Amino acid sequence: MSCIFCQIVAGKIPSEILYQDEEVLAFSDIHPIASTHLLIIPKRHIPSLTHLSEEDLPLMGHMVNIANQLARREGIAESGYRLVINCGKQGGQLVPHLHMHLIGGRRLTDELG
Ligand code: 5GP
Ligand code: ZN
Repeated sequence: MSCIFCQIVAGKIPSEILYQDEEVLAFSDIHPIASTHLLIIPKRHIPSLTHLSEEDLPLMGHMVNIANQLARREGIAESGYRLVINCGKQGGQLVPHLHMHLIGGRRLTDELG
């Protein structure tokens, strides 16, 4: 099992877990770019956004809902936050296991990249 995030799901690499259920895991990013920087991932290995199929759409909705709940829990729901999914090389995806970044706690730049 070479995927870092699959190893985090399996508990083989330690992480600061903030939420989990049967399908989804959320944990702190190891290199946070803001006071809140979490990653929300499916437990099942999906390489990237482009690999999603129609039956994964409820899972994506579930992940967005969890992100919103975590934003409330982190106290950034009112001040605002950003959900980011990088896809592929030019999209800036470094870890080839689908993940959503939840970033907040400071004024983010107006540019997306
Ligand atoms: P990407 O560029 O693929 O969208 O983002 C990957 C993110 O995963 C980066 O923000 C990086 O800091 C984070 N990351 C990489 N390896 C680990 C790790 O082993 N543990 C945790 N918690 N985060 C990681
Ligand atoms: Zn994986």
